[in-house]
Amino acid sequence: MIIMDTTPEINLEKIKKQAVVFESENLEFRTYLKNYAHSKQIDIMVQRLNGIYSNAIDCTQCGNCCKELQPSLAENDIAFMASVKNCSVQQFENEHTQYDELDKYRFMKSQPCLFLKEKKCSIYENRPASCDEYPHLNKPDFKYRLKSVLANYELCPIVYNVVEALKKETHFKK
Ligand code: SF4
Ligand code: SF4
Repeated sequence: MIIMDTTPEINLEKIKKQAVVFESENLEFRTYLKNYAHSKQIDIMVQRLNGIYSNAIDCTQCGNCCKELQPSLAENDIAFMASVKNCSVQQFENEHTQYDELDKYRFMKSQPCLFLKEKKCSIYENRPASCDEYPHLNKPDFKYRLKSVLANYELCPIVYNVVEALKKETHFKK
């Protein structure tokens, strides 16, 4: 079993550059992982690594997902956010949200998120479930979700470090 053997990489500029350098390697890793082990075994490895790196990386010193992504919002999120902003739900929807291409899901319009203060969420205790669940590493069938996981590799240090540690743990040859 590999315990974290290096300090996690948290330099966002460096991670972004590495994502370009490792682009084709990461595609090869997707294929490699599909044949490496049963999906449940990989999920166990990923969840352990996620625990290690989530503890080692301080999200309040990062906040990059709140700058770069637009969280999806449920009705109760919008109602709560409207109450924080002291406006009606309708006004909040009109001014601060937008639908996805299929008009199915509502997302926060602003980037960075208007509730991000410096690098911290100002409504952390009541943040949307989509924010709480990010970066979605604990969901099942990681190896079949690697394409969507890799979309977050360049912007989330937790994802970056977990994927790089998983390469080592599964003896993937770079
Ligand atoms: S609601 Fe909070 S956690 Fe979610 S994107 Fe905005 S600042 Fe980040
Ligand atoms: S979840 Fe990832 S991108 Fe978001 S604040 Fe934490 S380390 Fe940064």
